[in-house]
Amino acid sequence: MSVIDDLPPLREVIRRHDLRAKKSLGQNFLLDLNLTARIARAAGPLDGVNVVEIGPGPGGLTRALLAQGARRVIAVERDDRAIAALEEIAARYPGRLEIVAGDALGFDPRPHLGSGPARVVANLPYNIGSALLVSWLTLEPWPPWYDRLVLMFQREVAERIVAAPGSKSYGRLSVLAGWHTQARMLFDIAGSAFVPPPKVTSSLVSLVPREDPLACDRRALERMTEAAFGQRRKMLRQSLRSLGTDPFALLAAAGIDPTARAEEIPIEGFVALARAYSSTRGASPG
Ligand code: SAM
Repeated sequence: MSVIDDLPPLREVIRRHDLRAKKSLGQNFLLDLNLTARIARAAGPLDGVNVVEIGPGPGGLTRALLAQGARRVIAVERDDRAIAALEEIAARYPGRLEIVAGDALGFDPRPHLGSGPARVVANLPYNIGSALLVSWLTLEPWPPWYDRLVLMFQREVAERIVAAPGSKSYGRLSVLAGWHTQARMLFDIAGSAFVPPPKVTSSLVSLVPREDPLACDRRALERMTEAAFGQRRKMLRQSLRSLGTDPFALLAAAGIDPTARAEEIPIEGFVALARAYSSTRGASPG
């Protein structure tokens, strides 16, 4: 009997369903149910919460989320081999696990969510992790349908998400994450905990949406961070030239020293630059 339920151990599930990990699907499975329980606990009390899980695979985290009391889990999995394994979990928790066979990119969970809060908890496939995060950070309208994202990334990506100005990891992803959420690092998980083990350490990150983020046009903000961090060693008076607008006018309007570099500028500074950029182009600032 396993530590969290009376379903078979994950190694047996993998053997029975021939779920050998495929690199093309970013598959690194967590088979230690103590560890998946720790991740589920880090997602906060789950009673009454609808959880969206991306990439459940053989279902170690899915089982932990259900055992932890999630009201429902909507699990989106692209690998057809995993569906039968997940159906066994659904039978153990009647009415609480909805399996969606398909691609998580472009998946809109809203029609699947009942009443109550919604949360995303996932050990993400590394090859689409950042793309999924960006799609959740740029949802409109804001605040979004979820009250928290609890996500596992390669540590280097996690460091970029939570980085503060002045850090060498601070970049486009940090600005986008910090603009719309409060992001923090929860804990690391060694590569040896996964099957197969990746070469790098992974980290669990929590992102809680800000109720009232500073208003600016998202595309203008993205253009700004792309230009500024695209040449991160250069002064902004130089790197912002690629925008095709006078960089000195933009920087003056935003109250930023033209000799500053991208990594010194806090999120409010990028928002001020994005507003200045929108107004030079006659677009709405908010
Ligand atoms: N949650 C499981 C665990 O912790 O052991 C598996 C995590 S594994 C890192 C990533 C999972 O995402 C795999 O099951 C993989 O098949 C699935 N996956 C990969 N690309 C996907 C996509 N585009 N849409 C949905 N699932 C995907």
